[in-house]
Amino acid sequence: MLELDQHPSGRHFLQIPGPSPVPDRILRAMSLPTIDHRGPEFGELGLKVLGGIRKIFQTQHPVIIYPASGTGAWEAALSNTLSPGDSVLMFETGHFATLWKQMALRLGLQPEFLSLPESQSWRHGVQPKLIEARLQEDREHRIKAVCVVHNETSTGVTSDIAAVRRAIDAADHPALLLVDTISGLASADYRHDEWGVDVSVSGSQKGLMLPPGVSFNALSPKAIEASQRSTLPRGFWAWDEILSANANGYWPYTPNTNLLYGLAEALDMLLGEGLEQVFARHERWGEGVRRAVNAWGLEIQCQEPALYSPVLTGVVTPEGIDADEVRRTIYDRFDLSLGTGLGKAKGRMFRIGHLGDCNDLTLIATLGGCEAGLKLCGIELFGSGMQAALDFFADNPAPGTPAARKLAADAPTGQPQADAVRA
Ligand SMILES: *Cc1c(COP(=O)(O)O)cnc(C)c1O
Repeated sequence: MLELDQHPSGRHFLQIPGPSPVPDRILRAMSLPTIDHRGPEFGELGLKVLGGIRKIFQTQHPVIIYPASGTGAWEAALSNTLSPGDSVLMFETGHFATLWKQMALRLGLQPEFLSLPESQSWRHGVQPKLIEARLQEDREHRIKAVCVVHNETSTGVTSDIAAVRRAIDAADHPALLLVDTISGLASADYRHDEWGVDVSVSGSQKGLMLPPGVSFNALSPKAIEASQRSTLPRGFWAWDEILSANANGYWPYTPNTNLLYGLAEALDMLLGEGLEQVFARHERWGEGVRRAVNAWGLEIQCQEPALYSPVLTGVVTPEGIDADEVRRTIYDRFDLSLGTGLGKAKGRMFRIGHLGDCNDLTLIATLGGCEAGLKLCGIELFGSGMQAALDFFADNPAPGTPAARKLAADAPTGQPQADAVRA
């Protein structure tokens, strides 16, 4: 532990999958004086963030912004659309899916938790076929909602949300589709309208590059309709009062003004870069980090290459090595924070975040810290992961850079880079 009067030089490496490193530009925007949340200036800010955030969710419909962590927005999604005793179908992708299920129980819902056998559990995405089969059996339509996690932050596995929608439609079932994209939004491709999601839940401290404390519900017309009939109690979370105040850019209570300055700045940055490029940037970082893990000869937690998370990578430590001991060594020696194994995965894996204010070289430094820490803990590595990632980054220039544009212009087929990244 560091003494209180010691301060390490240089920046701490916050490579956990949320909170992610916040760009200086956003920190500066948040340092402006707090304004009257009922004054004219605030209305403009409110309308700006409420409009901009829809583009991030890729929706034409309203998005609710709460001054709360993501967990609050989970509760809001359930309590606005469902009634006491309703059955909900959930899928055990990992720790966050498990926590959402526990919340459903606390709220008086009846969650049904679909899981894979223990040996495959937490290493795959949602299985749309299992969802479809369960909904087919539910002829009386007792299941009122299907709830799934888009990017399971505890494992580094994404799920195909469009396929879950198709499964619900194939079963001709009226259940709502509620999706947690708390760590997926603004890093991994996410399309609220196109994928037919009824409520998308997200938070500020992951892909949006903000500090914790803001969270979201993106709605569909069907979700708004359900909220007019559902009877779970809700006060603070109730959509109706917020939606009417939001029409003019205000809230029924005091919103977190300075975090909204930060959100406005994040929207400018992300929409200025363009969502496609934002997604490509994270895909490429994910590929670089996975090449490092492969070069070390360690296992990646996700066992479905098509579902590798562009946001984080779960690294399984060899039998007999406590992953938290590795994390502790890396923190003490290199001032680098990595994500701990959560729930069932505790001690078995650590997580490398590749989101927020990163670049190729911060990731190379992160991988260097991991590599040295793994060796210090007595793990024999096949080769240098840091070098493998560096080679990959050098051969595949970052999207949007002059080097990438030159490569694309020179290539006979026009798209060598996208292929390399997806490979
Ligand atoms: C971070 C996270 C949460 C929890 O959000 P909080 O802001 O910590 O309340 C839930 N689900 C997923 C997938 C997450 O990544």
